[in-house]
Amino acid sequence: MSTVSYALEPNTPLTNESVTKLKEDFPILNTEVNGHPLTYLDSGATSQNPLQVINAEYDFYTKYNSAVHRGAHTLAVESTDLFEDARATVANFVGAQENELVWTANATEALNLVTYALGNASAGIGGEQAKKFALAEGDEIVVTEQEHHANLIPWQILAQKTGATLRWIPLESNGTLNYEEAEKVITEKAKVVAFTHVSNVAGSITDVATLVKLARKVGAFVVLDACQSVPHLPVDFHALDVDFAAFSGHKMLAPTGIGALYGKADLLADLPVFLTGGSMITKVTMTEAEFMAPPTKFEAGTQKVSQAIGLAAAVRYLQNIGMENVHAWEAQLGQRLAEGIESLDGVRLLGPAAGQERAGLASIHVDGVHPHDVGQLLDTQGIAVRVGHHCAQPLHRALGITASTRASAYIYNTTDDVDRFIEELAKVRGYFG
Ligand code: PLP
Repeated sequence: MSTVSYALEPNTPLTNESVTKLKEDFPILNTEVNGHPLTYLDSGATSQNPLQVINAEYDFYTKYNSAVHRGAHTLAVESTDLFEDARATVANFVGAQENELVWTANATEALNLVTYALGNASAGIGGEQAKKFALAEGDEIVVTEQEHHANLIPWQILAQKTGATLRWIPLESNGTLNYEEAEKVITEKAKVVAFTHVSNVAGSITDVATLVKLARKVGAFVVLDACQSVPHLPVDFHALDVDFAAFSGHKMLAPTGIGALYGKADLLADLPVFLTGGSMITKVTMTEAEFMAPPTKFEAGTQKVSQAIGLAAAVRYLQNIGMENVHAWEAQLGQRLAEGIESLDGVRLLGPAAGQERAGLASIHVDGVHPHDVGQLLDTQGIAVRVGHHCAQPLHRALGITASTRASAYIYNTTDDVDRFIEELAKVRGYFG
């Protein structure tokens, strides 16, 4: 692979000045939308790609393109090496071993992998060692009312398949988790506790240690939706002591179509398979099959090679900045968003108030104005935000609303971006009120 250079020197703290320089790596951020410079505040939905990621994919397709793990020819060996190097880079980034990181299409597929495999275990697939994963009537699956649908519906389906009961930790009136209730909901019957690390709507950061402790006390498996945390905070799955975790590449500067499931090595070894077919077997007869060791046993079919290489390039990009620097800057942007929103009449900030810990995103409800109108008005000014229920209908219902408007920042946003958003938001009620 070619030598890579970055706009910023390694470990440069993010400030308005350094971020302005960093933007040189992101050509799309220099474009205009509706006659205004693009202010991209929708990274919670999908992030932008730096040239280093785009070039990594270009490099792969122009020099190494070939299916992995199959051919004896030179390109196949090179692409396999790059694919496995990418796994090592990404695994190391999240504090995992290489055999603990399974490539998936995205976080949604990773979470479905876990629930589908647990369903297989419940149906007697996977032999003796899979029995610990089996669910049945009388067992409980615990989620939270905050979850993205990707960490809710798969559990609903698993409950329907197995007869287990789905329970959930309710929310406080601002949309954050009610930890007192968590103690009551996670009982001896709980077999799994699944929750998000950072809420994609409230912007709150979950106290993972507290929930892991409650789950461990009753012997439940812990599944973490790390989709909004891995791109933004230093995350170490071993240190967090979760059993499984899911994240998506496209939210962390990488291409779409790649994500990962983390699983503790011993658990992945015993977990029944998910998708089956080519590339994941050691022996097949007309009546049965034997499977490879993890992670390969969960990677059926031709793999997402350029995307994995792109994700590794994205990880190197983030490592060049340093995740502590990423988190510190986004925490600052998150506070500025919260403060700006709280200063406006008729605009309600969801999630933690300004001054409390929150991620670099903020969702709002504007009195008397539909979020789609808010989003469209901002778009006329070149400001990109997300509107709707953000795949979290139960959270919105709990807050008495159906939808909201979300601004989500990333490493390439400046305080000017936040201020432009607040300035234009201040005009919204004047237009529609
Ligand atoms: N979980 C959370 C908290 C998310 O924010 C998202 C995406 O918005 C997902 C899961 C699903 O991610 P993907 O669509 O990449 O699978």
